[in-house]
Amino acid sequence: KQSQIQDDLESWVDRYREDASKGKCAAYIPALAKANPEQLGICVIGQDGSKAVAGNWETAFTLQSISKVISFIAACIHHGISYVLQRVDVEPTGDAFDSMIRLELHKPGRPFNPMINAGAITVSSLLEGDSTEDKFDSLTSLIESMTGRQHQINEEVYKSEWKTAHRNRALAHYLTATGFLGCPAEEALEVYIRQCSIEVTTEDIAMIGLVLAHDGYHPLRQQQLFSKEIARLTKALMVTCGMYNASGNFAAFVGVPAKSGVSGGIMAAVPPRGRKGETPFGDGCGIGVYGPAIDQYGNSVAGTALLGQIAGAWDLSIY
Ligand code: GLN
Repeated sequence: KQSQIQDDLESWVDRYREDASKGKCAAYIPALAKANPEQLGICVIGQDGSKAVAGNWETAFTLQSISKVISFIAACIHHGISYVLQRVDVEPTGDAFDSMIRLELHKPGRPFNPMINAGAITVSSLLEGDSTEDKFDSLTSLIESMTGRQHQINEEVYKSEWKTAHRNRALAHYLTATGFLGCPAEEALEVYIRQCSIEVTTEDIAMIGLVLAHDGYHPLRQQQLFSKEIARLTKALMVTCGMYNASGNFAAFVGVPAKSGVSGGIMAAVPPRGRKGETPFGDGCGIGVYGPAIDQYGNSVAGTALLGQIAGAWDLSIY
């Protein structure tokens, strides 16, 4: 049965790899444009640690916006949910992830949600610690508690984004003017861009998805890493805002809480569906996908198509 799952994944990866030609690697962060757009890889990890992989699943890539999920969790662990929600709302926008228009339209300018850049920079400013290093460390230790290994940043991607972060810099300074940041603008920006540059593989993000699928409980370490309330709020945000302004389509046609990043990663958390044995991974799983060619919304084209196929075949939709 395990080998059937593996064979299916291999053949779907071969089929959907072709969809990459409908997208392009992100180029507004110049270092990301160097990725080979034809890559597609996947890793699925079940509640008992069983793992199915296919394609370029071992390729390292940067977290980018997937890091917004983890920083939100870390800020909620540190301050409590209600404090964080005073600084950032939980409402989807239908705007691009880097949009700034609503900040001024809706006074006093609380960012609409933590998955758009304005909200994510705000969340990064609230991480535990008095310096950029401490804030960044508090985030990486949460990531490492889930993936079980140490992570470095990709210096080239970090420098490339730092030099070209004009919109994010504008957002951070605007948020300082309106009083929503918990630390100086340039510090918040540095933490945010560093967290976006953390290197992972599909296996790492599948592990993070697995913990979220189990409401903050790490089934392999047998440890509750954060509360059920934080996990549920985070998954609700993934469903409504995780794929940016394509979240509605993703909910309709894939139907699992997920978060994408412009480097082409998608992290999905598939909760247990009470169908153990009937379909693969019926008792929940985490899925990590990597396919660097992205669409106009910033989501992996081949990765989204692959997830749609798997969700259909394995009956993964939560709806
Ligand atoms: N670092 C990227 C940015 O801020 C992350 C965006 C993304 O993955 N959508 O623009």
